[in-house]
Amino acid sequence: MIFQQLFESESSTYTYLLGCPETRQAVLVDPVLETVERDLSLLQEIGLTLAYTVETHVHADHVTSAARLRSLTGSRIACPAMDGLACADLGLSEVEPLELGSLRLKPLFTPGHTDFHHCYVVDQPGSLRVLTGDALLIDGCGRTDFQGGDAETLYRSIHEKIFTLPDDALIYPAHDYQHRHVSSVGQERQRNPRLGGGKTVDEFVAIMAALELPYPRKMDVAVPANRRCGLIEA
Ligand code: FE
Repeated sequence: MIFQQLFESESSTYTYLLGCPETRQAVLVDPVLETVERDLSLLQEIGLTLAYTVETHVHADHVTSAARLRSLTGSRIACPAMDGLACADLGLSEVEPLELGSLRLKPLFTPGHTDFHHCYVVDQPGSLRVLTGDALLIDGCGRTDFQGGDAETLYRSIHEKIFTLPDDALIYPAHDYQHRHVSSVGQERQRNPRLGGGKTVDEFVAIMAALELPYPRKMDVAVPANRRCGLIEA
């Protein structure tokens, strides 16, 4: 499998490029509008055709390039089916994985950051990767104070859906603000300061309630745009 982690610096977002070496078809998970040209160049350089863009959730901090890439390349837009986006071509759920050549993205319903957030498990011989979106970050997690977020729900999602995976499963988050790239289930379960080391649900809820995070700068533009798969105007 072809796998690349790409970074957009304004929103500190990781986009993931996954490609099938046989069919030369590719998927971009959580692509960002500002980096369309970079992503197109990279696809061309590696010799891949973009088949799908995939979203983990409706983002509040950046606008997706899904619609732009669809109009430029003919790629299709896959989103969690529960989000019910009229602009999506394919709805994903735990019983509706995305399969493309040798690639298989298995959705995990992991609400709590947003109400319909999904992670994607990519199981390849010799490596198990989890694209955790904004559910589980390295030494952190997504915020739970808007978009249907709920700390207790996020705690359960992470403990029941992610921490039950093998210790050596690799964690690839949708953001990192400190230039870290990858973690593992074992590492986060042991030492994630909010969720690891046996933290209880009550401890986690108290930690999240005390964060006092600022209102996301782009939220009022990004959420409506992302509900249109990245079209700024209807
Ligand atoms: Fe988010």
